Amino acid sequence: MTIRADSETILQVRDLHASVEGEPILKGLNLEIKAGEIHAIMGRNGSGKSTFSKVLAGHPDYEVTGGEIAYYGENITELEPEARALAGIFLAFQYPLEIPGVSNLDFLRVAYNSRRQHLGFEELDAFGFEDLVEEKLGVVQMDARFLGRSVNEGFSGGEKKRNEILQMALLEPKLAILDETDSGLDIDALKIVASGVKQLATPENATVMITHYQRLLNYIEPDYVHVMHAGRIVKSGGKELALELESRGYEFLDSEVVAEVGA
Ligand code: ADP
Ligand code: MG
Repeated sequence: MTIRADSETILQVRDLHASVEGEPILKGLNLEIKAGEIHAIMGRNGSGKSTFSKVLAGHPDYEVTGGEIAYYGENITELEPEARALAGIFLAFQYPLEIPGVSNLDFLRVAYNSRRQHLGFEELDAFGFEDLVEEKLGVVQMDARFLGRSVNEGFSGGEKKRNEILQMALLEPKLAILDETDSGLDIDALKIVASGVKQLATPENATVMITHYQRLLNYIEPDYVHVMHAGRIVKSGGKELALELESRGYEFLDSEVVAEVGA
């Protein structure tokens, strides 16, 4: 499937329902994302944020039971995860996987070359790729010695998250979804990650930052903030909504939102 990046709307999620192990988690989620936008999705633990990110990426454990995900106007609800990745959907995991025995450099090159091939470009050889990756290391202020190590093995929390942003810098996704990229980071690592994400945002792509906390949004200003509660987006607003959540907490959701949407 070839998806053409020629429409302003990158993602359109309509009335999405999804289950994991037979348990309904997403219960009617709606979201539209246009090129050039940065969205933040906030919400309490267990509200379904990670589930949503995995459903977008096509994780096989999650079953879509209703609704639709359209990417550049194409229904991708049934598309395999590999095809979504090739089409430019990138998910940075909340808990990045370690892959012992696979060098970070090889892993990045394989990922990079499959995307390039998909886009109709020639693969880069090892030397060409090394030059490219060294240039991209600067985006996350990463030392080249991390390239020779096994993927994420023994990396600190902050190093893993920086490695995810490095992957993103190489793959140049159209839709980047960052699940709790800020969690477990000290303030210096947070600043580096945030600056990397900012450098990679362009008028042609879109970024979704999933976060429990407001502090990341001090460094990356979102155009829209959404609040998830019980498997759907129950409130959307501008960046001021994040500050409101910071001061009010999420408790108001139990009364206000339940009355509104009947959760
Ligand atoms: P959040 O990221 O907002 O904290 P999650 O999407 O991780 O929320 O989880 C939403 C709900 O789905 C939780 O109640 C969680 O226990 C449940 N859930 C998520 N993944 C699984 C799974 N693989 N098996 C069973 N339940 C799951
Ligand atoms: Mg989560």
